[in-house]
Amino acid sequence: MSKPVDSAVSAVRTYIRHHREAFLDDLAEWLRIPSVSAQPDHAGDVRRSADWLAAKLKETGFPVAEVWETAGAPAVYAEWPSDDAGAPTVLVYGHHDVQPAAREDGWDTDPFEPVVCGNRLHARGAADDKGQVFFHTLGVRAHLAATGRATPAVHLKLLIEGEEESGSPHFRALVEEHADRLAADAVIVSDTGMWSETTPTVCTGMRGLADCEIQLHGPDQDIHSGSFGGAVPNPATAAARLVAALHDDHARVAIPGFYDGIKELTPRERELFAELPFDEEQWLRTAKSYATHGEAGHTTLERIWARPTAEVNGIGGGYQGPGGKTIIPSSAMLKLSFRLVAGQDPGHIEKAVRAWVAEQLPAGIRHEITFGGATRPCLTPLDHPALQSLVRAMGRAFGQEILFTREGGSGPAADLQDVLAAPVLFLGISVPSDGWHAPNEKVELDLLLKGVETTAYLWADLAENWRDAG
Ligand SMILES: [Zn+2]
Repeated sequence: MSKPVDSAVSAVRTYIRHHREAFLDDLAEWLRIPSVSAQPDHAGDVRRSADWLAAKLKETGFPVAEVWETAGAPAVYAEWPSDDAGAPTVLVYGHHDVQPAAREDGWDTDPFEPVVCGNRLHARGAADDKGQVFFHTLGVRAHLAATGRATPAVHLKLLIEGEEESGSPHFRALVEEHADRLAADAVIVSDTGMWSETTPTVCTGMRGLADCEIQLHGPDQDIHSGSFGGAVPNPATAAARLVAALHDDHARVAIPGFYDGIKELTPRERELFAELPFDEEQWLRTAKSYATHGEAGHTTLERIWARPTAEVNGIGGGYQGPGGKTIIPSSAMLKLSFRLVAGQDPGHIEKAVRAWVAEQLPAGIRHEITFGGATRPCLTPLDHPALQSLVRAMGRAFGQEILFTREGGSGPAADLQDVLAAPVLFLGISVPSDGWHAPNEKVELDLLLKGVETTAYLWADLAENWRDAG
């Protein structure tokens, strides 16, 4: 069977070509609003950015577009129901706030005056994340134009938060408050990147995070190491012994129960990671490290994307001043963090760590452990029908095979996954050279338009291949 001429592709591309200029003008207008959530004197701009986006989404055709208040900066919510009642519901996540930026940080141009230079659009937020949020507006219009539909093929929802660059302090509460309206069969996060310009990829998961601080107390005050040393336990030694016991000789975490329940990489997943053109020397230079190190039996990409870790973030105790001081210190402290992968539960990890620490410490060393807020890992299986639709849509837009990555970090996507009990997929077109959080942030215009094109195919594909979802 010969490959049929893809009329949907040409209809989408024609639509995008005709609306490209207006789309970029609108995006530039949004980028001129310095919606820096970390700086209180920009609070008015963050609000202006939310208002601007809500109005633009209305203009795009979303019948519902609202500014949602939080205890901090406002978010934007929009909804465009499908006239096909049985269609799946998709929630798109992104953010409209940006990192701080000033000319004197090393920008070649004003960070809030967008400049197009060849294929690049330079401005704070061009890639992270306004550009990637905005491609959804032209994408849904192109989808309607190419299919002749009056409403999207899926029930489309958008949640664009205003505090992501400040650590999303009120995001979980916002999602919980509006869980009914946000209910979705799948979440699509557009706030990530691809492997590179030439290797388009879909991210299938992020690691979770748990962290704790451990205070160790020995004698009630610093005591003389001559009078008492050798006959009482030293909390700094106890801290060092804990750290030394954290991993075994294969760099596996030695805390009993730490690996309970984890989803191991399948042979296919390992193959797919290995297909990525990974240059370990280059990666090491980026890491500013002098050697790789990690769990035996796993590659570097597996270690950062798909294996859990225990890291010592800080260790302290005893005399730190000039010269010597012959004491047994009264206290010592450790800060530990754990990156978690699918199948691991932060509550279980906390219990395991507490039991392990209590068991390791000698008599006479008292301790307190304080855990911070945890983030769950998320992972979408490769055979999930929504992920397959996403990969097909991206493949049509890019005209290339789409490979898979994961993300070693942790993010607010996990809150959506937890509260809405929906799988999280990542549609990001940014590339490592886009300079997130750095001077001269930019987005590649042709990739931005590939993002538009991907969403233009995605909704119809999802509706067609993922009936009776949820
Ligand atoms: Zn972002």
